[in-house]
Amino acid sequence: MRRISILGATGSIGQNTIDLIARAPDDYDVVALTGGANIAQLARDARALRAQIAVTAYPDRLEDLRAALAGSDVIAAAGPAALTEAASRPADWVMSAIIGSAGLAPGLAAIGQGATLALANKESLVCAGALVLDTARRYDARLLPVDSEHSAVFQALVGEDMQAVERIIITASGGAFRDWPLEALKSATLSEASSHPNWDMGQRITIDSASMFNKALEIIETREFFGVDPDQIEVIVHPESLIHALVGFRDGALMAHVGAPDMRHAIGYALNWPARCELPVARLDLAQIGQLNFRAPQEARYPALRLAREVMARGGLAGAVFNGAKERALDAFIAGSIGFLDMADVVEEVLTRCEAQAGLLDATMTLETVTETDHLARTWADAVMAERAGR
Ligand code: NDP
Repeated sequence: MRRISILGATGSIGQNTIDLIARAPDDYDVVALTGGANIAQLARDARALRAQIAVTAYPDRLEDLRAALAGSDVIAAAGPAALTEAASRPADWVMSAIIGSAGLAPGLAAIGQGATLALANKESLVCAGALVLDTARRYDARLLPVDSEHSAVFQALVGEDMQAVERIIITASGGAFRDWPLEALKSATLSEASSHPNWDMGQRITIDSASMFNKALEIIETREFFGVDPDQIEVIVHPESLIHALVGFRDGALMAHVGAPDMRHAIGYALNWPARCELPVARLDLAQIGQLNFRAPQEARYPALRLAREVMARGGLAGAVFNGAKERALDAFIAGSIGFLDMADVVEEVLTRCEAQAGLLDATMTLETVTETDHLARTWADAVMAERAGR
């Protein structure tokens, strides 16, 4: 039996992972499940999967979790330190699916015990790519991509020599507003931004898809994961979301990964790797699909893509600033205090201020410096938003 843990078990990726393992319960020994506010779901899954431990991120929800687990053998715990402790419990395979930079410390803890880390939490690589990769090397832990684009690239690279790779093309659906007039984006509402044309995902990543902040994070993730130069990474809008990524080789060949927009494909690939096992995903009928469309992303519509390029060119802790400011601006958009287009302006202003702070972005990358930088970026994002509101 493989020992597995799921960090962020109550979320969209976590639930899809549980859907797969629940189909073969005798194959898995579930060590830890973690969640946040959704205590009922966490307790239900921990009981059903007979997890050793269930952890909520929020200390003030510990009593609720204990009550929900009463009469079972599952240990209840709460808070960031408990999350990290749960992630460091010996396991063979750990799904990293907490949303945001909160996923970094538990992910590093899982790597630190040598587990294979299935990485959905792209923010870990954006904020601290070098640290995550160094830690994986030090503990001989394998990282497997779960983001659909990165899983697609990973699959296209099986048996290939990285020296032969000319470019990596990641596709983008274009999100909820891909066909809106640019002018209309200013007044885009939360509910409009929260509905994705193709994918069924958590609310935050759905909004990040509409603004392409998600694609911006993925460009940086691609650079870190595959070690290619920024100018080898391209983004193309592909409204059908059936091709997830393409790898271009120096002989001119393009290898595309084609599949239904269902995250259980990428999750299942990481779960079964290096084997390919049957998965409950739709099989495509290409004759019925008929045609696939592609277009270049408009820079003016998606300033996040330009910011991602600037972050990669800057290096150091710029990724942690980018992500921290983005998370805070997204919180504010969700709370209704800033508009859809304001998010990119806020992030750009925070990047500019951090760049002006001598040495800040060039501090040695450790969990502590990344965490401090993340907090600072959030504080400055709040300050920038307060200044803009006062104007
Ligand atoms: P969700 O918002 O659906 O779920 C996030 C999970 O993290 C939940 O279990 C949530 O708990 C938990 N959580 C929230 N805040 C904290 C915190 N501060 N500390 C610890 N745990 C917390 O996110 P998704 O599943 O959509 O995304 C998860 C990750 O996977 C993200 O990094 C995303 O970018 C990436 N990803 C997601 C895809 C998708 O299809 N959804 C596709 C590709 C990548 P609770 O819900 O109980 O509050």
